Formats: sequence, structure tokens, C-alpha cells
Amino acid sequence: MSDKIDFNEIEENEDGYEKYCFMCHRPESVTGKLIEMPNNLYVCADCMQKSMDAMSNIPFDMSKMPNIPGIQFVNLSDMDTVLPKRQRVKKKKEGEKKAPALNIKDIPAPHKIKAQLDEYVIGQEYAKKAMAVAVYNHYKRVATDTMDDIEIEKSNMLMIGPTGSGKTYLVKTLARLLDVPLAIADATSLTEAGYIGDDIESVLSKLLAAAGNDVEKAERGIVFIDEIDKLAKKRNASQRDVSGESVQQGLLKLLEGSQVEVPVGANSKNAMVPLETIDTKNILFICGGAFPDLEEIIKERLNKHSSMGFIADLKDKYDGEKDLLSKVTVEDLRKFGMIPEFIGRLPVIFTLQGLNEEMLVKILKEPKNAILKQYQKLLALDEVKLNFDEDALRAIAAKAMEKDTGARALRSIIEEFMLDIMYEIPKDDNIGQVTITKEYIEGTGGPLITMRGQQRITG
Ligand code: ADP
Repeated sequence: MSDKIDFNEIEENEDGYEKYCFMCHRPESVTGKLIEMPNNLYVCADCMQKSMDAMSNIPFDMSKMPNIPGIQFVNLSDMDTVLPKRQRVKKKKEGEKKAPALNIKDIPAPHKIKAQLDEYVIGQEYAKKAMAVAVYNHYKRVATDTMDDIEIEKSNMLMIGPTGSGKTYLVKTLARLLDVPLAIADATSLTEAGYIGDDIESVLSKLLAAAGNDVEKAERGIVFIDEIDKLAKKRNASQRDVSGESVQQGLLKLLEGSQVEVPVGANSKNAMVPLETIDTKNILFICGGAFPDLEEIIKERLNKHSSMGFIADLKDKYDGEKDLLSKVTVEDLRKFGMIPEFIGRLPVIFTLQGLNEEMLVKILKEPKNAILKQYQKLLALDEVKLNFDEDALRAIAAKAMEKDTGARALRSIIEEFMLDIMYEIPKDDNIGQVTITKEYIEGTGGPLITMRGQQRITG
């Protein structure tokens, strides 16, 4: 054994930092042993290979290049001031990883997946059920990799539901429970390659980033594309509307599974960044949108259907129908402006309901990480007990209903009136308990404050 001490090694172990590749920026724990270059530069074997390949494609011999006046070749040692003194990133601590609630290698039955979702998501029973079955089938297909003569179709999903009904929240919760990387993209920001905006492949770049640049992990991830309804062809438009339609076309190859070259750490292939190849075969795509006016299309279809018989007089039969959206068919979506091939690649279609006051009250207090529980925990750190009267919760829900943005309004309303509480309470060490009342929410009174070891007084 040589008695030469490698100081680099020692430092790394002590401060938890590790080296990363100068070209692709992946840390050594991901790339494998890095190749050391002069001036504290490190390059991984993959990038080194790529550079070699690129160089061998150059038709002339660099070493025989004449000395051309005005053209200089960069000497690495001249770059001392530009290059980092130590090319390292903080190493992620191992052993911190908890086992995921749901293991995708040994995927639990749909009812267990739904039970986990129930802990966080209020209502939306049908959506949770449909999602649990689709996810179960998807990851079973991934785990067994059965691609023989009976090919199991991908379970990509289309979620239809009003703003703030929990579409994004459902997907986020699912990805967290499964411990798979998740990328959330907005369909309106996507454009065809070459146009201003994000290339379609950028959704995979985001996924790769969410997976810590681990391609294998990204290939088992989930991509959520929100506002998918904005890609609809314009109905009744006189000119041809190509922008949304061509993005739908562009997404087709991702949805069905293909090998895609993805820029690492950029939204466009035009940027000078390394490319990775990602296979989208096992990536679960979930699209979501509010699809305004879809109800009209459904109603029209249902009315037309009934008017063909002898019941033509019931033209407004479906006007008051609450759950009209759940009657959606592929034909309705096509009429809305989605191209048939696109809908065809989203075989699992389900709807979410608009939230009512009762559901909003439940959302405030019941989920595992409910907003009220979060505030209660914060104040408990100051040893103050926080209560909410049932009437107060109903008043908050009623205010949120007026805004018509579903559960999204809840947080902003609560934050508004909790600001004073969070500001005033820690001032006085004697306060032991605060109760939020309906009057306080409606601006006609204050919260009830109880001093430690004393009776309640009105604040
Ligand atoms: P959208 O349907 O517009 O994607 P989001 O999923 O973003 O709506 O919902 C906004 C927020 O409202 C979420 O972050 C979540 O906290 C809350 N929320 C919405 N729906 C529910 C629900 N069914 N159960 C629990 N929380 C919900």
C-alpha cells in the first residue's frame, strides 16, 4: 500500500461534498468514478466518451493544424481564474430515505392505493378509484414488463374538473406516496420546436431534473400536463388554428412511448447542453383541464338523442343536472377540439366534481396535512391551543365559494385573518387558548382568547 495520502478523499468524507462532472453536472455518486483533469476539473466517463466520439468525427487532424493568426486554441491552464477552484457539489446524505408509502415494485391493490389517497384528498371518490386502478395496472405492467403478444395498453389519464377541485393535488399526492419523480407542465407554455416557448420535450427535461438526473428513475415517473383543454382546436374559427393542434400532435409520440432526446437542464434543444435519451414507454402521463363549455356539448348531444324519439319536448331536461360532466364521451371531447389520436392515447378518462361548501369545510380540517392542523401545530410550538368553531369553518367555506376557484381560495382567506392572530398572540405569554369564531371571520367580532389558568375573555 502506498503511504501517499489522498487529501481529496479525506475532505470529501468529512464535509459530505462530492465531485461532479464538469460537462453534464452529475455528481460522482451517479456517474461512477470521475476522470481527473488538470486544474481541479473532473469529467465522467460518459462525457469523455462523447467528446472522443465527437472528435473522431472531425475530418481533419487537430494536431496538424497550422498556426492560424488570430485564432487561438484554449489552454486549460490559462483558465485558472474562470474555472472553479474546487469542482464539487454537496453530496446528498444517504440513509435519510424513507420507504415510500406505496412500493411500485410490489404495487399494492387498488383499494390500498385509494385508502392512502383518502387520507389527503377529500371527496372525488370516483376519481380516486379510477386513478388507483389505472396506477395499479400501469406499475404492474412496468414491473412485469410483459410485452408479449398481449400487450397491456398504457394507462395514461385525462382528468376533467373545475379549477381548484384537486386535480394537481391528486397527482402530487400520488407521486409522493409512490415516491416517483413528478413533472408538472402547463400545456399553454408548450410550443412546437423552433417557436418561442418550451419545446414539447421540455416536460421530460423537468422530469429528469425531478429525478436528480437519474434517467432510469425518470423513466418510471409521472408527467402531469395541466390546462390541456387550451390545446383544443378553436371551434367555429374561420382560419385553421394550428398552434394547439400541433402541440397535441407533438405530444402523441411521448404519450405512446418512444425514445426521445432530451436536453439536460434546459427547455430547448437549441441550447448548448448535453442531451440524454429517455424512453417514455413506462412514464405515466396524466393530463388535466377544466374544459369549460364541455357541459354544453354534452347537453346538446343528450338533447339531440332524446329529441329523436317522442320526447322532444324535454329540451331543457338536462339544464339543472349537476353531474353532467361525468357523462362525457370521447365524441364530446373530439367536438370540443381535441384530436382523436390524442384522446385515443389517454384511455382512462374521469371527471372531478366541483367542491361544495360541505367539502370545503372538510378540506379545512380533515386531510392529514390540513391547513387548520398546520396553524394548530405552529401555535402549539408557542404552547397556545388554537380552536375553530364549526360556524367559523362554515363561514370560511362560504367566503371561498363566492370566489369560485374551488379549494384554492381557502388558503388565501385563512392567511388573511390568521395574520393578526399569528402577530398578536406571541406578544403575550399569558395567552393559553384562541378560538376563531364566526363573528371574527365575518368582521363583526373578535376571536375568543383564554388566558392561562383563567376564564375566556373576548378579544
Ligand atoms: P386544480 O384542480 O385547479 O389543479 P389544485 O389541485 O391545484 O386544483 O387545488 C388547489 C389546492 O386546494 C390544493 O393544493 C389542495 O390543498 C386543495 N384541494 C383541492 N381539492 C382538494 C380535495 N379534494 N381534498 C383536499 N384538498 C384539496
